[in-house]
Amino acid sequence: MRLLLIQHDDADAEFLEAALRGQEISNLELTRVADIAGAITALSASEFDVMLLDLEVPDASGLDAIDAVKGINDETAIVVLSSQDDESLAASILSSGAQDYLVKWEGQGRTILRSIRHSIERKRAELRLSYLAQYDALTGIPNRQFFNDQLRRATANARRDSRSLALLLLDLDEFKIINDTLGHDAGDLLLKGVAERLQDSLRSGDVVSRIGGDEFAILLEGIHEPREVEAVALGLLESLSKPYQILNRQVDATASLGISLFPNDHTDVKILMKHADIAMYRAKEQGGNTHCFFHTRMQAELLSYHELARDIRLAMERQEFHIAFQPKVNVHTKQLQGLEALARWTSPTRGEVSPTEFINVAEDSGLIIPLGSWVLDEVCRTIKVWRDNGLSVVPVSVNVSARQFQQPVFHRRVGEILDKHSIPPSLIELELTEGLVMSDVDSAQAELAQLKEMGFRISIDDFGTGYSCLNYLRKFPIDVLKIDKSFVADIEASADGQFIIEAIISLARSLRLETVAEGVETHGQLAFLIDHGCHVVQGFLLGRPMSRDAVEPLLVAIRQGDTDSTAVVRALSGAA
Ligand code: C2E
Ligand code: CA
Ligand code: CA
Repeated sequence: MRLLLIQHDDADAEFLEAALRGQEISNLELTRVADIAGAITALSASEFDVMLLDLEVPDASGLDAIDAVKGINDETAIVVLSSQDDESLAASILSSGAQDYLVKWEGQGRTILRSIRHSIERKRAELRLSYLAQYDALTGIPNRQFFNDQLRRATANARRDSRSLALLLLDLDEFKIINDTLGHDAGDLLLKGVAERLQDSLRSGDVVSRIGGDEFAILLEGIHEPREVEAVALGLLESLSKPYQILNRQVDATASLGISLFPNDHTDVKILMKHADIAMYRAKEQGGNTHCFFHTRMQAELLSYHELARDIRLAMERQEFHIAFQPKVNVHTKQLQGLEALARWTSPTRGEVSPTEFINVAEDSGLIIPLGSWVLDEVCRTIKVWRDNGLSVVPVSVNVSARQFQQPVFHRRVGEILDKHSIPPSLIELELTEGLVMSDVDSAQAELAQLKEMGFRISIDDFGTGYSCLNYLRKFPIDVLKIDKSFVADIEASADGQFIIEAIISLARSLRLETVAEGVETHGQLAFLIDHGCHVVQGFLLGRPMSRDAVEPLLVAIRQGDTDSTAVVRALSGAA
């Protein structure tokens, strides 16, 4: 028995030690500390079966002493020693987590030992009960009680941090038939199998529990979009629908899943459960082996997402995409410095679709990879045509999404496309966002170094909107910071807007980077940017995204050194 004695008084300690040693306790390991601080150290370092805690310690008083030591090692029983014999004190000692209570000097060795033994027994029983109260005996996963606690905790946290979470209720299809035809033992084994697969399919932070006969509940935290939940739901259904080996037989089972979202559907946990339940019945009505969201809007949103993804795929096959080029103008030379390639989609059924809409869906569905390759390919093809026609070509920027950049050996894929058209990388600038390079700094650094080595220019797009870490920025081989259009829009509206732009420009100067301001719409914005030393400007004031044919006169103008025939330059002279 490993016993911790928390006793300040030496005489008391000696008495107790002597009393205990006289009792022939097998393997008694006795550790004595003089105060609560000592107890905390001892409890965190080693395990004890029981502690004898004298409430008269110098560093805590009364019941506080129990509070201080009880949570550290959950399996240690507590016997409290007190000098007062007082019924109400005894009651509050026991309700504060101690297993027994002794009045000092009253007991002989045998009494003390009996109390210690009882306490250890009692502690074990309590632990067992609390386990039983939280876990399902059949499957060993948490039960409804535990789940409800977790759900309450999670909704409170999510509310505080304004985050979302998803509640999934899962019910096996036709479980009653399986139970009736194969027997209860088989039914139990199936439930165990289902619990195992659910646990295996989820991330470690997700909570899964069995809340009733063949009903399971799952809690997903850190959810951003209904389609993330959908991906989990599909994964679960697929894993559950694989055959089970039960009592030497193959058993097939499927499940229906109902989903409700916090806070979108409701913020009350009871109502969330109810909503998930309604959604689950809807999934059953559809024949089972499927999932349903409670909110019809979610369902509709998801449907329109899938439809849009399908249409993007078709649009690529049907060549409905084209590229618009937006001029970037050098404020000193007033000449065209570059172009940004922007994807455009004219759908026969949807009309002009905004890139913010289809790029998002293309990113989430992975279609951005073929679409991005197409954009680069098309840009190279266009540059090739311009060169073949003897036009002076300016560098063209191409936007790169996270999914594209994170492909293995992205630089090689990009290199292949350029080679195909014999375009030198110096004519292509890659626009990446901060978030993209910061998400995996080491691999981004390696990839960027490769691209840089090949001769590409690298630009950080939407600079200032994401989370930037200046130390890392210094390590990346970047050429350009592109000031986000939201700051440009603020120039005339607020001093903050001006301040941020000044800060970005001076940061860029210290890192020897070029600055490009995007979204320049007014002469006032342009004048401010020129005054503060921004190098390049881009925006509706200087030129809208335009077709390839509309760009050609601009390229002809540079070749002829013509500085005042273009729309681009007109805007700049207006400012001067
Ligand atoms: P972005 O890279 O920040 O592109 C600039 C956006 O600002 C473009 O919107 C452009 O049309 C718009 N813009 C240009 N000048 C002005 C102005 O003076 N005022 C205002 N209010 N807006 C201006 P767009 O074409 O709708 O593209 C939106 C976003 O879609 C782009 O933002 C980019 O992130 C993404 N995107 C567009 N094409 C591609 C592409 O080929 N590949 C990838 N990965 N993303 C693309
Ligand atoms: Ca861009
Ligand atoms: Ca941008």
